[in-house]
Amino acid sequence: MVEKKCLIAVDFDGTISTRDVGYSFFHHFSGGKNDELLPFWKSGEMSTRECLIREAALVKTSKEQAFKFLEDFKLDKAFPEFVKTCREQDISLTIISDGLDFYIEFLLNKFDLTGIKAISNKAIFENGGISIMFPYDNRRCQSCGSCKEERIEDLKKQHQGEADVVFIGDGYSDVCAVKAADVLFAKKDLKKYCDDNSIEYLDYDDFDDVKSKLVDLGYMKGLS
Ligand SMILES: [Mg+2]
Ligand SMILES: [Zn+2]
Repeated sequence: MVEKKCLIAVDFDGTISTRDVGYSFFHHFSGGKNDELLPFWKSGEMSTRECLIREAALVKTSKEQAFKFLEDFKLDKAFPEFVKTCREQDISLTIISDGLDFYIEFLLNKFDLTGIKAISNKAIFENGGISIMFPYDNRRCQSCGSCKEERIEDLKKQHQGEADVVFIGDGYSDVCAVKAADVLFAKKDLKKYCDDNSIEYLDYDDFDDVKSKLVDLGYMKGLS
C-alpha cells in the first residue's frame, strides 16, 4: 500500500551514470589540466559557473570526437526499471544536474530512456571546443551553476507542495539539494558530507536499493 506521495529528483553524474561523465569529459579533452581547478571548486573558493567556464576553455574537441568518447559510459543497471516503476505508479521523476546537457541526453537516448525531464547547464560546440551556458538562474545561490536547492523549490511549487521531495545524489554538486529534500539518499562524497555535518540520509548502492527503501517508507508500491 502506498501511503505517502513523493516526487523524485535525481543527480546524473555518478548517480544515474556509473562514472562522473562531466569530470571524465573535461579530464580527457583538457589533457588532465582541469585537475588543477578542482581543489578550488571543492573548497568553495571557485563557483561551479567559474569552474565550468574555465574547464571549457581548456577543452579541445570536435562534436564527433566528444560523442565518440561518450560511447563507453554506462548507467546504473537498475535505473531503467526504476524509471518504469515511477511511470507505472505516476511518480514524477526529474534529473537535476549541475553538469551538461549533451552527455545526459546522449546517454539517456543510448539506453532507450526517452521522455525524462532533465534540468542542467548547456554546452555549445564551437571553434574546436565548447562554451557553456546557464539557462537556469539562481535567486540566491552564488556557488552552483544551476542550484539544486532552488530547482527543488521550483518543483515543489509546480506540485503545490503536496508531495515530499526525494533526492538521490552522490557528490559535492548535491550539497545544496540536501537543504530542500524531504528524503535524502546519499553515497560516496555526499554521504561523507552528510556524516561530517550530522545530516540524516539513507545509504544506497543502486536504484534497486532506492526502490526497496521507498517501498518500505510507503512512497512506492512493492511487488504484491
Ligand atoms: Mg554526481
Ligand atoms: Zn546552490
